[in-house]
Amino acid sequence: MTHPSLKPPEARVLPTLNQDGSRRWLNPRVSRGRFLNGRRAVAYVLLLLYSGLPWIEIGGKPAIHLDLPAREFTFFGTTFLPTDTLLLMLLVGSIFVLIFQLTALFGRVWCGWACPQTVYLEFVYRPIERLFDGPPDALGRAPKPKAAWRKAAKYAVFLLVSLHLANTFLAYFVGPAEVWQWSQQSPFEHPSAFLLVFGITAMMMVDFSFFREQTCTVACPYGRLQSVLLDKQSLIVGYDKKRGEPRGKRNRSAAEAPKGDCVDCGMCVTTCPTGIDIRDGLQMECVGCAQCIDACDAVMDKLQRPRGLIRYSSQAALETGRQRLMRARVVLYPVVFVVLTTLFVVQLMNRPSAEVTLLRASGRPYTTMPDGRIRNDAQVRVVNRSKAARSYVVELGSDAEGTLVSQDLPLVLQPGESGVAAVSVFSSPDVFALGRGETQLVVRDDDQFERPLRYRLQGPFGAGKPGGDGP
Ligand code: SF4
Ligand code: SF4
Repeated sequence: MTHPSLKPPEARVLPTLNQDGSRRWLNPRVSRGRFLNGRRAVAYVLLLLYSGLPWIEIGGKPAIHLDLPAREFTFFGTTFLPTDTLLLMLLVGSIFVLIFQLTALFGRVWCGWACPQTVYLEFVYRPIERLFDGPPDALGRAPKPKAAWRKAAKYAVFLLVSLHLANTFLAYFVGPAEVWQWSQQSPFEHPSAFLLVFGITAMMMVDFSFFREQTCTVACPYGRLQSVLLDKQSLIVGYDKKRGEPRGKRNRSAAEAPKGDCVDCGMCVTTCPTGIDIRDGLQMECVGCAQCIDACDAVMDKLQRPRGLIRYSSQAALETGRQRLMRARVVLYPVVFVVLTTLFVVQLMNRPSAEVTLLRASGRPYTTMPDGRIRNDAQVRVVNRSKAARSYVVELGSDAEGTLVSQDLPLVLQPGESGVAAVSVFSSPDVFALGRGETQLVVRDDDQFERPLRYRLQGPFGAGKPGGDGP
């Protein structure tokens, strides 16, 4: 039986579809070689990193913590608040430009070497599958069905790994301590977290047991963007047509037309995790995993021909033999990247050591006190962004009329901690004109931080009526 991908491209619909539209299951062979060894080493480091990042603490916070309810995002010791829109935009912009640059230079190296989808599928789920089902044959056909218990055991292990992934995913959002605590309690105590873990586990099971390579070939937006991000000089995994064609097995007949180095063994196809034939040229489905390089190098070694019939190269180098590193986008991207990161660093360095937000208290807009003074309530939220514990006070500005009272001051906050102080401002009714007045609050810490805040007061239209409340 011929491997379906060895049919001419026009006879195939998609590498993962049969012509009748049914799913074509891929069972890629493992091709051992230098690139597989390298990818495996990288994958093991990344597996540790992906699972370990929420557990690593920097400055008292997880290395990556995406606190959605508080809208605080921590990356390696730096916390971004909702008010850091510009900083976040600069950070995201820099990351995008960096991705564009790396893709222009190194093609889909991220997809083949570092993407969590590839790392978990190729170095966790598929090895587990091979352990229980056995390896596919040389044509990429699935191993013979095994005892039912083996299948059940395989899915049980898949489920355990998926549960671990779901809990790790949750830890990025709520922190590992909470996940650990919740996992020991009843699901009814944390139904939303439980449902989230349940949903993510189910998604992981569907993705890694069923959907698999289609995530890369059909669903991933980065994969769809390759045609605009790559150019002819970008690094790709490519087949050297000039050297390989005409393909086919050589025989000893003197009359036979000379053949290229490709013996049409199909090893590069049956090892491909996305089911394509790299000899048909660069395709969007190629994730740059280099398995076909290892497969073909092993064939060339056996035939005692030079390695590299399939190799890391560029379209231009494969077609013309010439590689051009310098081109417009390779110069433009770094310039934009340097500008964005410089702006980001400058903005970050000049960020004040505390973040202050003034909120009007909910409920009545103001209260008229028995002595005729008008009380306005507010909440002052402070986030300590410095590297030391700080004590914060809120006072009225030196020119402001009235009195400020709070039971919550001073606010003592550890680095990265936030706190709220409820404050009441008592003012004379004379400061109000048409029901409005204004005063100034000042938030200070025990170091050098000082932040003046304008606070709009609300009060009666005329003189205050003792004992009354605002509308
Ligand atoms: S592994 Fe090499 S020799 Fe075999 S079909 Fe692929 S390109 Fe040709
Ligand atoms: S063509 Fe080669 S590099 Fe591309 S996905 Fe298939 S095996 Fe990996």
